[in-house]
Amino acid sequence: MDPITIFIVATLMMLANGGVLGLMHKDLPVSLQPCAETWRIATLLLAGRAVLYAVQYELPLGLGSPMANGMVMLGCTGYWRALRQFDGAPDRWWMWLPALAGIGGVLWFAGVQPDTPSRILLLSGVVAFVLMAGTLQLVRGGTGERARSRKALAGLFFLVGLFVLFRAGYFLVRKVGPSFDITGEGAWINTASPLVTALLPVVGTTAFLFMCSQRIGHQWELAAATDYLTGLANRRTLLAEGENRLATARQRGTHLALALVDVDHFKAINDGHGHEVGDKALQHVARQLQATARGLDFVARHGGEEFVVLLDLGQHGDAQAAGERLRLAVAGTPFTADGASLTITISAGIALQVDGDTTLDQILRRADDALYAAKRSGRNRVELA
Ligand code: GH3
Ligand code: MG
Ligand code: MG
Repeated sequence: MDPITIFIVATLMMLANGGVLGLMHKDLPVSLQPCAETWRIATLLLAGRAVLYAVQYELPLGLGSPMANGMVMLGCTGYWRALRQFDGAPDRWWMWLPALAGIGGVLWFAGVQPDTPSRILLLSGVVAFVLMAGTLQLVRGGTGERARSRKALAGLFFLVGLFVLFRAGYFLVRKVGPSFDITGEGAWINTASPLVTALLPVVGTTAFLFMCSQRIGHQWELAAATDYLTGLANRRTLLAEGENRLATARQRGTHLALALVDVDHFKAINDGHGHEVGDKALQHVARQLQATARGLDFVARHGGEEFVVLLDLGQHGDAQAAGERLRLAVAGTPFTADGASLTITISAGIALQVDGDTTLDQILRRADDALYAAKRSGRNRVELA
């Protein structure tokens, strides 16, 4: 195939990818829409640039190349921006500086002082820089997400960046003259260029969409496993974790301890300060419990103003003492809301797994009885079942 045909095929593939992304875009969660939109515009810029290469003989000399160069620099910067948006990094105006300086430079070397080697070198430098910045973002950014698609995309950015540098070096060594035409047949690099530069819009877009889908899956898993208000494990996760620990304890001949925690007179906080302050109070209690938990302790919101802590007795030794630590942490840390400082207290009922316990519910029921006893004896207390 001659380079022009390859450019046209590559363009059609890029346009198809940009189109698919445009159609899918509204199906993505709101948090991913901005980065997908940026990615799509960048892909369309690169497709437009490939069109320009293919039709450059129809354009006035000296116009097609700088326009195409500008589009490739803006498109690559767009990819970099999309990756930053994906990671929640703020937009920065200086990100556009390399591309803008590059556009000024290619205009100069195309129109004012025609100098093809300098133009290619400048273009390659800007593109390689931006692609390496994208690689760094993929490797170092993010919130610990290390999806394979992310690694694949990092590899792709890096390889295309390397190719761009290699191509610049090749043209310089070969002493490209002003009449040089990258769509000309002959040099193998003219065939390789459109193929390699189509990798990001085509293969890269697929990898990017996989990154989005992995993020969505992760968000769903998290939403299904945690409590929206406090960020603690929810009841569903507690039951699964509890059954696991119950089985492990039985195998090892140890005993599971469970603390059922209930906020004292919580209704009064809601009634006196409003539901919103009530919600903040629940978040406050959740933070204290989580901060006081040790080792393998597992803290969950059981529902309403009730929490469950699965206690790691290897760390605490004594279940009653562990409960006291939780109670004192909450009672000893004032909660401020509405400009007022409120003291919140909890009561806890603790139950130990006994031989013959087969489900978590059996332990929960005994802990509930103990909690009831703690409430009856005046609240802000810990009772052992
Ligand atoms: P006690 O000391 O006996 O536990 O008294 P209490 O007032 O804490 O207990 P009660 O069961 O009477 O009230 C619990 C209240 O918790 C009632 C309910 O409206 C409120 N509640 C449950 N879930 C939430 C929530 O997510 N946010 C807020 N703000 N309130 C909640
Ligand atoms: Mg309650
Ligand atoms: Mg209560």
